[in-house]
Amino acid sequence: MKRVALWLLAEVGEGNEFTKEQMRAAFPGVSQIDRRMRDLRSFDWRIDTNREDPLLTSAQQRFVTRGQPVWEKGMPSRSKSAPAIGAVRRREVISGDSNMCRSCGITPGQFYVGTFEGAQLDIARREVVLPGGVSEVQLVTECNRCRVGAKELAADLSAVIERAGALSPDERELLAGWVDADERTFSTAERVWAEYRALPADARATLREFLGLA
Ligand SMILES: [Zn+2]
Repeated sequence: MKRVALWLLAEVGEGNEFTKEQMRAAFPGVSQIDRRMRDLRSFDWRIDTNREDPLLTSAQQRFVTRGQPVWEKGMPSRSKSAPAIGAVRRREVISGDSNMCRSCGITPGQFYVGTFEGAQLDIARREVVLPGGVSEVQLVTECNRCRVGAKELAADLSAVIERAGALSPDERELLAGWVDADERTFSTAERVWAEYRALPADARATLREFLGLA
C-alpha cells in the first residue's frame, strides 16, 4: 500500500487518470494490487472510479487527492477498519434515514448541483454524545461527496445572478441583507433543525420523543 501511494504521487500525480494495466505494470508480480489501492481510501486518499466520475471509462481511475502519508513510520501498513457493516444492516440504516444523505439531503443517483455526477449513498459511523454525556457510535447515511469532503466545483456566476434576479422583492431584500453582512443568520430553531437532520435514526427518534411526536 505504501509503494502504491508513492507511485501515485510520483508517476500519476494528483488529478490524473491511470489504468489498472499501468498499475499492474508498475508492480509486476505483486498480488492484490487493486486491493492495496482500495486500502488507501481508508487513509483519506481519494481515488475515483467511473462510479464517482462519469468522465472516466470502466478501465480508468483518477487519483484525485492524496491522504495521510502512509509511508511514514508509525502509520499502519494496512487499514484497520471497523468490522464491515452487513448488507441487511446497511439497508436498514439507509431506509431508516429515508433513503437520503443526512448531511446534504441528496438521494441516490440524483446529480449534484451543476454536475452530472450522481450521488451514491454509503454508511458512516457517527459518534453521538447522548444526553448524560455517554457517547456511542451510530450509523448514518451519507453520500459519497459528504463522506470524502466536497471537491472543487466550477461556479456558474451567471446562473447564480439569474436565480437572484428571479427572487421576489422581499426575498431579494432578505438576500441582500445576508450578502451585505456576508453572513446568514439562523434562528435557534433552524440550527436545531440542521443538527437534528444530520443525526442517525436512533438519535432522531429520541428527539421526536422529546418533542412529543409518535
Ligand atoms: Zn451528502
